[in-house]
Amino acid sequence: ILEQYIAQHPGSAERYRKAVGIFPGGVTHDNRYAEPFPLYITHGLGPRKWDVDGHEYIDYVSGHGALILGHSHPAVADAVVEQMRRGTHLGACTDEELRWARAIMNLMPSIERVRFHSSGTEATLMAMRLARAYTGRSKIIKLQDHFHGWHDYAMAGSDRPAPGIPPEAWGSMVIVPAGDLDAVQQAMERDTDIAAIILEPTGAHYGQLPFDVPNYLLGLRQLCDQHSVVLIFDEVVTGFRASPGGAQVRYGVSPDLTTMAKIVAGALPGGAVGGKSDIVDMIAQRGDPEWDNTQRVYHPGTFNGNPLSAVAGATCLELIASEPINQNADAMADRLKAGLNDVFTRTEVSGHAYGIASMIHFTLADGDFDHEFGPDVNRRIKAAAATPAVSSIKRGLQNRGIDIMGRDALLVSATHHEADIDQTLSAFEATLA
Ligand code: PMP
Repeated sequence: ILEQYIAQHPGSAERYRKAVGIFPGGVTHDNRYAEPFPLYITHGLGPRKWDVDGHEYIDYVSGHGALILGHSHPAVADAVVEQMRRGTHLGACTDEELRWARAIMNLMPSIERVRFHSSGTEATLMAMRLARAYTGRSKIIKLQDHFHGWHDYAMAGSDRPAPGIPPEAWGSMVIVPAGDLDAVQQAMERDTDIAAIILEPTGAHYGQLPFDVPNYLLGLRQLCDQHSVVLIFDEVVTGFRASPGGAQVRYGVSPDLTTMAKIVAGALPGGAVGGKSDIVDMIAQRGDPEWDNTQRVYHPGTFNGNPLSAVAGATCLELIASEPINQNADAMADRLKAGLNDVFTRTEVSGHAYGIASMIHFTLADGDFDHEFGPDVNRRIKAAAATPAVSSIKRGLQNRGIDIMGRDALLVSATHHEADIDQTLSAFEATLA
């Protein structure tokens, strides 16, 4: 598989040789690092993209989840180009930011106030700061393996050593096993300094390590109410993908704060934190002499509410509200999931595909992970994900014109059609064989 990969991609190999002297590890995102070299991609359209050697790929990286409308959606592209001509940064309040916020509030009823950032990392950092400021408490509960970006607090509980992160930052994070309500209850009872709990609402890595939704989410809502702890759903991936209104609308559990990025900005750089007005209003400045502006939460940011991201985000979210974007993506993801499980059965490889809405994972662990949860399941999935066979499957798929997210995830867009799914399944079967 590796020999074929090297032989097929001389243009990518050549570029990577130059890149190692320019970027650390030769790449601009940790997850793009690949042995012996990553692919260099030139452009994308709908569900497909092309590399520098002229190969075509069906794309399930989907812009790290951002591309629910596929690559270069004409309505988003037009909106961005038109805005580009009107100015990329007006250094002022705009109609575009109002339209963007309304599109979010229309889909997610829990958002009473919102602030924009440039990334999901900024959104989770601000959500944690807001919760700390609002409650006057300092600690945040985070679930083991859940990903919230790369700032100091978000990296806690990630199994990695942490050079460059002060121990005090991690010391303010309480890590509990995901899916375990008793562990959360004990942490909240033991420590009266807990400001918030943050989690990915469909399980770590948008559902790779699933838990019992919605029961776990309902349990967390109750515990947070009992202990006056702020409930933060990190919907950076699940937002507008788990359903048009995210995981919170799909499961009917309303968080106090929500963090968003990716789809929210129509696959341009952008993020947002939103939620209960009394919490998000901690950012507010007022001329009112009764209002103590020294107690507010500080939030500048050169690209907050950037007009390019605003028009891309608003266009994307308005399409999600008015057209069957999620239904189409989910239907193709269902076809993919069922087909992958057929392939595992036919090839007699032990493995399973599972997932919620248009977020599909596969594992070489055996089990039905749409219905089995718990620490033992998580251990099995994590162990299987670390085997070299999983990397070989990724390379084998790339050799056959399929690009997946990470080593074992497929994010489906509304532009994937039955023929794309069927071609993917043939490539998967040939690779496993
Ligand atoms: N939260 C989650 C759930 C994510 O998946 C990500 C990014 N993959 C982030 C936060 C961080 O977002 P960004 O990369 O935009 O900083």
